[in-house]
Amino acid sequence: MPQHEAGAGRYAPSPSGDLHLGNLRTALLAWLFARSSGRRFLMRIEDLDRARDAGSGEHQLTDLTLLGIDWDGDAVLQSDRAADHEAAIARLADAGLVYECTCTRRDILAAPSAPHAPPGAYPGTCRDRSDAEREEARRAIAPRLPALRLRVPEGSGEREFTDLVLGRARGEIDDFVLRRGDGTVAYNLAVVVDDAAMRVDQVVRGDDLASSTPRQILLQRLLGLPSPPAVEYAHVPLVLGPGGARLAKRDGAVTLSDLAADGIDAEAARAILARSLGLAAPGELVTLTQMLDRFDPALLPREPWTWPPASVGAYPRRA
Ligand code: GLU
Repeated sequence: MPQHEAGAGRYAPSPSGDLHLGNLRTALLAWLFARSSGRRFLMRIEDLDRARDAGSGEHQLTDLTLLGIDWDGDAVLQSDRAADHEAAIARLADAGLVYECTCTRRDILAAPSAPHAPPGAYPGTCRDRSDAEREEARRAIAPRLPALRLRVPEGSGEREFTDLVLGRARGEIDDFVLRRGDGTVAYNLAVVVDDAAMRVDQVVRGDDLASSTPRQILLQRLLGLPSPPAVEYAHVPLVLGPGGARLAKRDGAVTLSDLAADGIDAEAARAILARSLGLAAPGELVTLTQMLDRFDPALLPREPWTWPPASVGAYPRRA
């Protein structure tokens, strides 16, 4: 029998502050999906967006370790991978699949949308410029630089994909940005290039990213990288705050540090998250190994979980 290199799952947080219970729950699930399927588990800090980078990568890794999550090898910093990102953009450009876009957000909102285009889709203003028009447009926005967009080929719109949690899921594909005018490589491009380089074949993340997945699958195909079914996706339910909206820092004690200040240590926090996933009884403290023994992706709750749960009083508190 030929030996195949084992695949990998990963967790890929953006270092924009401490991880909250929603992020931590997704990280636990990514670990459980990977380890229960015999995959390696990798870590990548997605630090490309300088405006949102709060330098919290190291602290995020500490919190993940406190929960008991481990990973193989060193955490990868996305900002170290710029050469690969640029090489991918260059390959797409060589294939005629990249164009410069000088539109501002306001230009895009003001432009008439193309017939049948999904709401918010890029209207294609800069798509078919001649060389002279492009030079003129560049001059007009100087010193701002143009963004780069993908010229989505006609008929490449497979908008549906199979998801381990959602079943069939979909998202729209327009001529999305590959690199912003300020030089920042876009999330969709970086995530595809990095997952392929790290041999990730299982992507587990929050279901707010499900609608981006068809764009990422299109990029995989255009770049000749592994794509479904060789790569599998699991988009997991978000955690909601007391008001019913997606959990956020304003919802109070939602990070491990906040909870510790309230007397709930990482072991109790892990137990609360395990309970929310149906992997522990109310008040029961469990290890990650026990959670792994009990984990069955088919039994994962499909509904969002609301913080704080009624059973929060059942967990031990340190004075
Ligand atoms: N960095 C993204 C986030 O923190 C996740 C990207 C991914 O898992 O594909 O929301």
